[in-house]
Amino acid sequence: MFSKRIKNLKAYKTETSPAKIKLSSNELPYDLPEGLKKRIQEEIAKIPFNRYPDPYANELRQILAELWGVKPENIVLGNGSDEMILNLALAVGEPYEGITYPIPTFPMYRVVADSLGRPTYEVPLKPNLELDEERFNRVLENYNPALMFISYPNNPTGNLFDRKTLDRLRKKVPLMVSDEAYFDFSGETYINEAINPSENVVVLRTLSKIGLASLRVGALIADEAFIKEMFKVKMPFNVTYPSQVIAKVVLTEGLDFIRWAIGQVISERERLMNELQKMEGVKVFPSKANFFLFKTPYDADLVHQRLLEKGVLIRNVSYLPNLKGCLRVNIGKPEENDIFLEKLYEVLKELEKEL
Ligand code: PMP
Repeated sequence: MFSKRIKNLKAYKTETSPAKIKLSSNELPYDLPEGLKKRIQEEIAKIPFNRYPDPYANELRQILAELWGVKPENIVLGNGSDEMILNLALAVGEPYEGITYPIPTFPMYRVVADSLGRPTYEVPLKPNLELDEERFNRVLENYNPALMFISYPNNPTGNLFDRKTLDRLRKKVPLMVSDEAYFDFSGETYINEAINPSENVVVLRTLSKIGLASLRVGALIADEAFIKEMFKVKMPFNVTYPSQVIAKVVLTEGLDFIRWAIGQVISERERLMNELQKMEGVKVFPSKANFFLFKTPYDADLVHQRLLEKGVLIRNVSYLPNLKGCLRVNIGKPEENDIFLEKLYEVLKELEKEL
C-alpha cells in the first residue's frame, strides 16, 4: 500500500526526555511576559472560530514586511518554515531533478526530498566544518540539481559558511535557498538578493527561534513573481487564525521584549562559550546561532546521558558525519546556563576519575 520511498523513511524524532533544563531544541529560553499574554487572550477572544483564516495572512505579512524591509508581495507564510521547505521541493525543478545540500545540516531537506522521491546529493563539510567547494562543484557540474539548500547559519554546526564560496557555488545551480532560521542571532542575510528577480536566491525565516515556536509560523521571501508561483502550491489555510492573531500582537506590542530576549541570548552565547572553553579538554566551535557545538575528551553518549541524569537535556549529534564526540547545546537563561556549566563540570570530573 505505501510507496517504497515512504517505507524507507524514519519518522522525525526529537528528544522528549523530561528534563528540568531543556537546551536541546534551539528554542528561545524566555516565555512571553504576562502582560503580553493577557493582550493575546483579549485578541483571541475576538476570533470568529467558525471562520477560516485569511489565506493570504495579509495583516501579518504587512507587519513582517515592515520588519524585514521588504514588500508584503515578497512574502509567503508557512506552517513553520518546514512547510516552505516542502513547498520549495514540490515547486522548483522537475521531480527527477535533484536537491543538494551540505551535511551535516538540518535534516528536513533530506526528509522532504526523500518523501517526494527526488534524488539527493549530500556533500560532506570539510573537517573544519566549512563547505567543500571542490566536491560541491563536482556535484553541481555532474548532476545538475535544481535546488541547493543552505542553512545560514548551519544547524547543527552553528557557523556561517563563507559567503564568497556560496556566491561562486550559486552561479552553478538554478536556485539557492538561504535558510535563515537563526538570522536574528547572526545578522547575516541574503534578503536583498532574494527580492531581486535577477538573483537566484530565496530566503527562509521563522518565528520559532524568537519566542513563538508554538505558533508554527515561517516565511519564504523572494521576488514577487516567485511568490506568486509559490501561492499555487500552498495549502490555502495553512497558517491558523490564532497563529496569525498572536503573531500580530507579539510582533507589534511585544517587539521590545523580543529584541531584549535576542540581545540576552547573544550576550549569553559569548559568556557561555568563553566559560566552556576554559574547561580542560573541551573544544568549543564558533557559532553565530542561538546554539553551538562542543566536544569533550569523553564518549558523547556518556556525557549526554550523565547530563540528563542531572536534569540537563542537550542534543547528542556525535553520530553525524564529521561530528564524532560532539554535542549541541542552545543558549538558555543565565541561571540555566550556569547550571549547565556546573553539571557539565561535574560530569567531566566523574568521567576523568572513572575512565
Ligand atoms: N531551518 C532550520 C535550519 C532549522 O534549524 C529549523 C528548526 N529547527 C527550521 C528550519 C524549521 O523551523 P520551523 O519551526 O519554522 O519549521
